[in-house]
Amino acid sequence: MKVLKFGGTSVGSAQRMKDVAKLVCDGEQKIVVLSAMSGTTNTLVEISDYLYKKNQMSANEVINNLERKYAGVIDELYDSDEYKKLATEAVSVNFTCLRELAKNNFFTVFEEKIVLSQGEQMSTAMFNLYLNSIGVNSVLLPALDYMKIDKNGEPDSAYIREHLQTELSKLPADAALYITQGYICRNAYNEIDNLQRGGSDYSASLIGAAIKADEIQIWTDIDGMHNNDPRFVENTKPVANLSFEEAAELAYFGAKILHPTCILPAKLENIPVRLLNTMDPKAHGTLISTAITPHKIEAVAAKDGITAIKVKSGRMLLAYGYLRKVFECFDAHKTSIDMITTSEVGVSVTIDNTKHLDEIVNELKKFGTVTVEKDMVIICVVGDMNSNNVGFQSKIVSAFKDIPVRMVSYGGSNFNVSFLVKAEDKQRALQSLSDTLFN
Ligand code: ADP
Ligand code: ASP
Ligand code: MG
Repeated sequence: MKVLKFGGTSVGSAQRMKDVAKLVCDGEQKIVVLSAMSGTTNTLVEISDYLYKKNQMSANEVINNLERKYAGVIDELYDSDEYKKLATEAVSVNFTCLRELAKNNFFTVFEEKIVLSQGEQMSTAMFNLYLNSIGVNSVLLPALDYMKIDKNGEPDSAYIREHLQTELSKLPADAALYITQGYICRNAYNEIDNLQRGGSDYSASLIGAAIKADEIQIWTDIDGMHNNDPRFVENTKPVANLSFEEAAELAYFGAKILHPTCILPAKLENIPVRLLNTMDPKAHGTLISTAITPHKIEAVAAKDGITAIKVKSGRMLLAYGYLRKVFECFDAHKTSIDMITTSEVGVSVTIDNTKHLDEIVNELKKFGTVTVEKDMVIICVVGDMNSNNVGFQSKIVSAFKDIPVRMVSYGGSNFNVSFLVKAEDKQRALQSLSDTLFN
């Protein structure tokens, strides 16, 4: 069985939902994972912001506007009054839930996560009813009954596998399509939670891995992974094939088309992942598999919001155990490190989570002089960069001839070279890499 995930834009209007229905109804049984309609999760974030600030009036105004928008979509999506009524009843459960939460005098992360979960619940209910209305034998497969994260916020693969099988076995075996929610899950305390923004991709790969799917398809609004970020660079082109490792590096280092960690579950089970375009279903897209194209630089991505920390000390010279002490400061504050460079007299690292920056810096000061630089960007170049291939480094570095580079990292994997630059130089660096490597 295949798992197909459709993102927010792909289900962003009544017409788009109808187009997706045409795509998935080909007689082959599959699991369909949906995001919330585009804009909805952002609106739910806005509602939460008002409720944190105890501004119930504005929260209710936004809820009313959202409900009007959904009424419009329902009106357009279904032909019969019967289904319009069914869909209105379905989403009214979600709007009632939002209004009840808005009535409370308290609002915590617990309530926020319930608010954020409403979008996927609405899109899947509406889409499933639409399929039923056109005579397709589809059923809802509620994600909250099987998708789970543990105490560390990591997916609980064993739980997901077991409960997904159980939930599927309760549903008609001859159903044409099982429709489920991306993004939402339960946590270790059985509360409603989520897999972070953009997490529907992750849902799809976790489901695919759990059922050992034949293929995982991520359908979005672009024809696959492009060789550079199309939001910042002109003339980017789709990459036909990527290895799991290359795709994982690109996703982690900012290629928004994929959730940062969604490749790993597919890689572990060796399930090919295909990135496809809902607006242009015939386009080849990108196939992610074990195959690597030798000697090819495939793509570039950028990760924003990076902070660089340098610790300089003569004590590192010829000493052992120094780096361990430095890393322990980050470990103690559960802060992960992205890039590392070392010299005889110092070490530089980058982090993206600055929640405990002050504490970390305080402790690092025991070991040397500490400098912090904020508003940095990691530019990551991905491809077959096995050190036996000569020449790729000089080609890549030449793209930075006019751009100040703060750190360079190569050799951590065979698939990437990373550069740390100032945020203000990001666009220039991306464009220059495209011009040098691909155009
Ligand atoms: P969805 O809502 O379907 O999950 P996203 O907005 O999360 O879609 O991801 C698709 C978007 O990712 C594209 O519209 C594009 O702007 C952006 N993007 C960023 N980098 C890349 C890249 N390297 N290749 C393709 N798309 C990219
Ligand atoms: N709806 C969620 C979001 O907007 C999850 C997703 O679309 O992947 O982040
Ligand atoms: Mg996305």
